[in-house]
Amino acid sequence: NYRCRSAFKLLEIDDKFHILRPGYSVVDCGAAPGAWSQVAVQRVNSAGTKQNSPRGTVVGADLLHIPPLDGAHFLSSHDVTDPATGAKLQELLPGGQAHVLLSDMAPNACGFREMDQERLITMCLSLIDLADRILQPQGSLLCKLWDGRLTHHLQEKLSSAFGSVRPLKPNASRKDSAEMFFLAQMYRKPVR
Ligand code: SAM
Repeated sequence: NYRCRSAFKLLEIDDKFHILRPGYSVVDCGAAPGAWSQVAVQRVNSAGTKQNSPRGTVVGADLLHIPPLDGAHFLSSHDVTDPATGAKLQELLPGGQAHVLLSDMAPNACGFREMDQERLITMCLSLIDLADRILQPQGSLLCKLWDGRLTHHLQEKLSSAFGSVRPLKPNASRKDSAEMFFLAQMYRKPVR
């Protein structure tokens, strides 16, 4: 009963790396229709269904409308790459900080493969600026990209901000697609 099959990619990655824990605060970028948020709500216990576990927080944003979900707070019609959205997300997080940033964002594909890849990489790079604002020290970032010419550029940028960066291709991701993920962990927050 997930809103979208994409849920299985996040379940698979989280079963292996345990990035979502009860009590954690999570930001879901590009959250519509809300399947990743459903997974996050269950795993961080933000709906409070597990009474003996700490209760977490899930906040999502998307350009599109995100149908309401118990345990999540959504910002529909919001561009995650816009710093104003970062400020609003921050207000919704306890202490203004998240343990985990998730991004399954994807631009509307224009059909020119390289151009689509580059637009998505640019969106991923903007997540590093968002992390600067709302990700806790030692926090994690999971982002989707389409593998291409600039993949190593993103990997380098992530490696300069995180202690560990892993490329992932979940089984639930179609073998013939360029889709892949980076899981960046142990965020080194710049000192201000
Ligand atoms: N993870 C979602 C789920 O499991 O339900 C599916 C996400 S879908 C593959 C990609 C989403 O990214 C789309 O809903 C799209 O509107 C959103 N998106 C693309 N660019 C965005 C941006 N700049 N800001 C916010 N959302 C964006």
